[in-house]
Amino acid sequence: MESTNNSSNFIKHIVNEDLKEGRNDEVVTRFPPEPNGYLHIGHAKSIVLNFELADEFKGKTNLRFDDTNPLKEDQEFVDSIKEDVTWLGYDWDGLFYASDYFNEMYERAILLIKKGLAYVDDLSAEEIRAYRGTLTEPGKESPHRNRTVEENLDLFERMKNGEFGNGEKVLRAKIDMSSPNLNMRDPVLYRISHATHHNTGDKWCIYPMYDFAHPLGDAIEGVTHSICTLEFEDHRPLYNWVVEQCEMEATPKQIEFARLNLTNTIMSKRNLKQLVDEKVVDGWDDPRMPTISGLRRRGFTPESIRNFCREIGVARSYSTVDVQMLEHFVREDLKLKAPRTMAVLKPLKVVITNYPEGQVEMLDAEINPENPEMGTRQIPFSREIYIEQEDFMENPPKKYFRLFPGNEVRLKHAYFIKCEEVIKDDNGNVVELRCTYDPETKSGTGFTGRKVKGTLHWVEAANAKPAEFRLYNPLILDEEKEEGKTFLDHVNPNSLEILKGFVEPNMSEAKANDKFQFFRHGYFNVDPKHTTSEQLVFNLIVSLKSSFKL
Ligand code: ATP
Ligand code: MG
Repeated sequence: MESTNNSSNFIKHIVNEDLKEGRNDEVVTRFPPEPNGYLHIGHAKSIVLNFELADEFKGKTNLRFDDTNPLKEDQEFVDSIKEDVTWLGYDWDGLFYASDYFNEMYERAILLIKKGLAYVDDLSAEEIRAYRGTLTEPGKESPHRNRTVEENLDLFERMKNGEFGNGEKVLRAKIDMSSPNLNMRDPVLYRISHATHHNTGDKWCIYPMYDFAHPLGDAIEGVTHSICTLEFEDHRPLYNWVVEQCEMEATPKQIEFARLNLTNTIMSKRNLKQLVDEKVVDGWDDPRMPTISGLRRRGFTPESIRNFCREIGVARSYSTVDVQMLEHFVREDLKLKAPRTMAVLKPLKVVITNYPEGQVEMLDAEINPENPEMGTRQIPFSREIYIEQEDFMENPPKKYFRLFPGNEVRLKHAYFIKCEEVIKDDNGNVVELRCTYDPETKSGTGFTGRKVKGTLHWVEAANAKPAEFRLYNPLILDEEKEEGKTFLDHVNPNSLEILKGFVEPNMSEAKANDKFQFFRHGYFNVDPKHTTSEQLVFNLIVSLKSSFKL
């Protein structure tokens, strides 16, 4: 990793210099999502960076919706973005829409026309592309490039008034068709789109392009440092050209950083939208999605996401972060917060033949041994319990310390039990175990008579609460990109496994998004969408162990 944490990032260094040299007397940043999808973990990196940078210099951060493309944008996305930024723990200073500035942008476009720096072009999109040239060949000037100011003013106004159809005309900046930077070869500033806008309705049928709207939005808001991803580095000369030629008072500085990439993770709204639209997942908040709402439903905490974003730091070179690092931070965060409890995901019935029939005793158990302040809970124990199917083997290999015929194990918080008999169905499947227990071995009584090597979790059968467990594997398998294949061909067919088992009876009080550590299994979140009054549904957040080291 190039930069280890936020406190040493290169952007902070630039801001410091700007303040010291008097180029700025305050710091204003913005987070500028396009409301065309839900936010993902990559956006979180940008959110943490923008808000915490401004915060460090006692500055301001705006939330600005970059809503210049009415066909793709929607109020649903605006609402979800606000919810996600708030949930992550950030308060924006101003809430703005690029569309709030459409009037002013239009005026600035007229200013460019009057200065002879913009013209209306009739070439089609394909023609404009063909005329643009390549990195090795200069572009060709449009035959409409030298229209008079009067003609341009007239045509632009008629574009605005809806006299032309989509794509019939555009407004272009008049810069340099032989510039080595393709972005400077007369970029399009305005296009015609007869579409209803989520904010401005049918007021406009011409819309500014990102390269025109973004610098103007930044300048209008007095943004001092406009942070974006590296793909926009080549756009910076155009950004500066727009600010200067439109005679904006404020002169924001664009700074680029490398976007976040994660292993096994799709990080593009367009592709995530495809997964939603094609019903590969059950919505933007599917717990397998790298969206903020998906991570929230999976059980990730805002703290874990913020800490992850701080740790990955900010650099100018591309790298891919191991998704296990994100998991590391949620484990760290939940370690002291999440109550411990026992859950049996694949149940096998055990009858303790020498335990008195009809008796139920309550056992004391710590809620979190790593955080004794959380106190204790009571769990029932009786003649019939469930253990995990995987904790029994009829013919075990060497060094198998769990239950097998004749072997004795410890039940967590309870007694030693010994397997005496195996009951099978007609097909030879093990359906029940008959065990005996030793009353002398009760947990917490200081029994030292003999030792056993295995400790199993369990749930008392009569009082257990049925529950569903959803276990997740990566949604996308990282494979070599093959000719003619898309990311949809890399979707993991086994990304979701649903199990039905039992949890401790005191879990009946669990609420949506409560988080627990299931002994020996991992951290789980109560799913807010599928949980009903009848049945709890738990999402696996992360397993307990990881090979990942920071
Ligand atoms: P996508 O390609 O996923 O749609 P985008 O950049 O088009 O992403 P925007 O809504 O325009 O989406 O992004 C808002 C802000 O979030 C931008 O400033 C952008 O630079 C930043 N951002 C988007 N993706 C990432 C990422 N993977 N890592 C860091 N920042 C990102
Ligand atoms: Mg974008």
